[in-house]
Amino acid sequence: MPKLMGISFADVTGYSDLARQLAQHKSDGFKVVVTLNPEIWVRATRESELGAHVAQAEWVVADGSGLRLAARILGEPAPAKITGVDLVSHLLRVGGWKVMLIGAAPPVVAEAFRLLKDDYPNNQWLGFHHGYYGLSDRESVISKIVELAPDLVLVGMGSPKQDDLLATLRQRLKGGIGIGVGGCFDVFAGKFERAPRWIQAIGMEWAYRVAQDPKRLTRLGFIPRFLFAVLKEKVARR
Ligand code: UDP
Repeated sequence: MPKLMGISFADVTGYSDLARQLAQHKSDGFKVVVTLNPEIWVRATRESELGAHVAQAEWVVADGSGLRLAARILGEPAPAKITGVDLVSHLLRVGGWKVMLIGAAPPVVAEAFRLLKDDYPNNQWLGFHHGYYGLSDRESVISKIVELAPDLVLVGMGSPKQDDLLATLRQRLKGGIGIGVGGCFDVFAGKFERAPRWIQAIGMEWAYRVAQDPKRLTRLGFIPRFLFAVLKEKVARR
């Protein structure tokens, strides 16, 4: 496994390779995919529960360009770029999954479910739940998931909420794949637009997202922290 910035990345060459590996392992215990970006990397180094979740995940992949840039600065082979939206689209296109969506606001997840079900009929669409339930409803949400026994659970609640739920599902489900997908349901439901390909290609998708949702500006403090950590590792390796 390629190791970078203290994280072991999954040995995957791209979407088809990862989709094949996930399909192969969907029956032998519940397994988790983390699509890691620099923001989650910074938080995982400071929040021990999130750090443990990332360390425990069966597949950690690099979502976006930040970690690939870090690899280049450190002179390491870059992990394949696997974004949440593209991974989900790829898996659903291949088909054969029993799918549940958990997360986002109630109308958003309902719309994402409806559109995805129409676009990818080659899967069994078991159900969905929004991501704004309180502590008192948590057990009923989990029981519903366990009862329906999906083999693909997409959890879009942001970190660390989605990671907490996936950690619980790891104990409660006998099989299946869980993926933390962050804000993907907002994109699938059409609430936010995906950045144009050329913006993705130059690694600026995050800036496009901030432009659409300026509340995210307050979250950009991770950028200097991440760059500092990369440079510190570069100096330490000399
Ligand atoms: N969200 C949720 N429950 C919460 C807080 C957030 O379901 O208690 C949803 C939110 O509606 C959004 C998603 O979490 O759809 C992703 O949040 P964020 O933008 O933090 O994730 P990112 O895309 O940065 O991974």
